[in-house]
Amino acid sequence: MDLEGKKTLILGAGESGVAAAKFLAGRGAVVALHDKKPLEDWTEKARSLKTEKIGLLEGQIPSWLLDQIDLVVVSPGVPTNSVPARYVGRKDGEVIGEVELAYRFLKGRVIGITGSNGKTTTTTLIGELLKNAGIVTQIGGNIGTALITLAETSGEETWTVCELSSFQLETIRDFRPNIAVALNVTPNHLDRYNFFSDYAAAKHRLFLNQTADDTAILNFDDETTRSWAENLKAKVIFFSVRKELDSGLFLRGRDLICRLDGAEKVLTTRDEMTLRGLHNVENILASFATGIACGASLESMRETVRNFKAVEHRLEYVAEIEGVKFYNDSKATSVDATLKALEALAEETGKINLILGGRGKNAPYEPLARLIKSNVRKLVLIGEDADNIESQLKEFAEIVRAGSMPDAVLKSFQSAESGDSVLLAPGCASFDMFRSFEERGVVFKNAVEDLESRV
Ligand code: ADP
Repeated sequence: MDLEGKKTLILGAGESGVAAAKFLAGRGAVVALHDKKPLEDWTEKARSLKTEKIGLLEGQIPSWLLDQIDLVVVSPGVPTNSVPARYVGRKDGEVIGEVELAYRFLKGRVIGITGSNGKTTTTTLIGELLKNAGIVTQIGGNIGTALITLAETSGEETWTVCELSSFQLETIRDFRPNIAVALNVTPNHLDRYNFFSDYAAAKHRLFLNQTADDTAILNFDDETTRSWAENLKAKVIFFSVRKELDSGLFLRGRDLICRLDGAEKVLTTRDEMTLRGLHNVENILASFATGIACGASLESMRETVRNFKAVEHRLEYVAEIEGVKFYNDSKATSVDATLKALEALAEETGKINLILGGRGKNAPYEPLARLIKSNVRKLVLIGEDADNIESQLKEFAEIVRAGSMPDAVLKSFQSAESGDSVLLAPGCASFDMFRSFEERGVVFKNAVEDLESRV
């Protein structure tokens, strides 16, 4: 793809838009970087891009510009239907996302990981598995580093591991991962998609261009991802935590097993894993399958899994104070993710003291009732949705209200007995009290540390 002199328009001046602008200008393109927000609300990084090659455009896109540009690059946060029809209607008007742009310049091989939950954990683990097995690896995409910046650092030997959201997959065209992983598809982002099937279809695009030389790794236990196997050209490897598969990776008792080409091997056991919960067994099986498809040695992978700690804010172990273990799962921003965290800790001995609440997402809390009744000692409620949660869950556990995160940590600790755990898995967004789920997790961890220094 020759970019010299190409007139490009980038929609969205966030992280990936900024990275794309730099890349395109660096390759000789003329760039207009657009965001509907007024310039004073752009990040410093975006504003500082203004040069001879990069123009900054706020608000409405002038219609004359739409007749002149050769390529539109859409950021994942910008819905594709917000590309002006005047451009889309042009016969020669190409619209792609930053992932597609990156793909056209990436050297080496590519692994794509998608799913509603577990992407970051699995992407990080796959990166570690490959790196520790001596494979040249880099990771990026939805996980932080924009894929386009990895194009510059890739070589023929490189494996680029990318976390991909459904939004990013909407705007691929030729993107073809040598290995594609689908973890699960559960209802999510239904504010942007009118139908679940549209959301699932966006994720399915990951497999769109794969050929018989490629590998597709699919969760057998998820009805949606299992159904995709039928029409794929790629070689399929299934994983399951519920069924012993004739061919694939699965759980038998505590053992994680690989049965491929008729031969069966034990990969590791759950007792060796530091990650908690069955959902993490799924992530680990998917990661092993990927490593096997890349030719990583089983022994090296086993060692990596044994040493792999939870990614920050994903059921992350924080500390133990007087026999009470503290876990930070601030990334559990949906009821579904809270349920996974409860299931994980319900496997441990001792009761759970659960910190729940924040900005609700109008999803019922009732799915938590059974596990709360059987495993939760105290429910400590925070945030805007506390009244709503209390009205739905009051029959199932004793409830106490907390006015701040340090107050919640203290009250959970006071209700806990030795052998219990304290779990922050709020099942809600954080924006009523914090800037982000990351900030919420950090405030929790600081409060735990503070408590530790006082007791
Ligand atoms: P993502 O990047 O897809 O949001 P993360 O790895 O950041 O995934 O995990 C997000 C949340 O989902 C965490 O609270 C975690 O406990 C939960 N989770 C992780 N893996 C899975 C899985 N395979 N299935 C269901 N929930 C999961």
